[in-house]
Amino acid sequence: MPSITPARPLPECVTRASCPECGTGLLTVRSDRKFHCACGSSVPGRDLGLNSGRVWAVTRAGHPLSLPDPAAAWQRYVAARTVMENPSKWGPELDAAHRVFLGALAELEAARLLGVQLPAGSDVQIGRVYLACVLNPDGTLSGSNASALGWPCEPCSPSATDPYFQKRYPCRNPRAHVWGQVRDWEKNLRPGEPSRYVVRAPLAPDLRTARRLAAAKCAARAAALTA
Ligand SMILES: [Zn+2]
Ligand SMILES: [Zn+2]
Repeated sequence: MPSITPARPLPECVTRASCPECGTGLLTVRSDRKFHCACGSSVPGRDLGLNSGRVWAVTRAGHPLSLPDPAAAWQRYVAARTVMENPSKWGPELDAAHRVFLGALAELEAARLLGVQLPAGSDVQIGRVYLACVLNPDGTLSGSNASALGWPCEPCSPSATDPYFQKRYPCRNPRAHVWGQVRDWEKNLRPGEPSRYVVRAPLAPDLRTARRLAAAKCAARAAALTA
């Protein structure tokens, strides 16, 4: 699971809890299960005020954060998706559904990246970047095509008769896209030629991180196979 490092800004929906005594200090949990501040105060978890509709998470470094309840975000996500899958919904209603979908998705991704449990049955694609990867002959990563939930996507949009007007709607099926891509590539293999195409789907907050994680995994596998 990726950890949130100070170098990376927190997702917009995530709030860092500050010390109730001095108002500004960064709290850190210690082995006594209390949150300690540099000003000397220590706060039991139950005394940290939490607004309704939000839940706690604690970073790997022990700092408490609050974020929107993923159960509520999941309900909004499902409702928006239902509108998006309905071909009779169009115009402002569909635009509104796209906005709700992207907002709920951002909250669910924040929860997944912070290790907060998502509701049972929620979309396994949340928080992942799907990569259709081309490998070098030695098994290391050569290049990849990426897809992720919510990214602007042509296959997830109705086809326009004139390509000039083809829209790009928020993606809902990144996993299916990259597997379809790999199967298309494999059709061009000569008989007996080994496939150099794989799918990787790391949990990652952005494309750069996803490509780095996928490259590391391919390199590790290549090293294991040649060892
Ligand atoms: Zn303090
Ligand atoms: Zn898509």
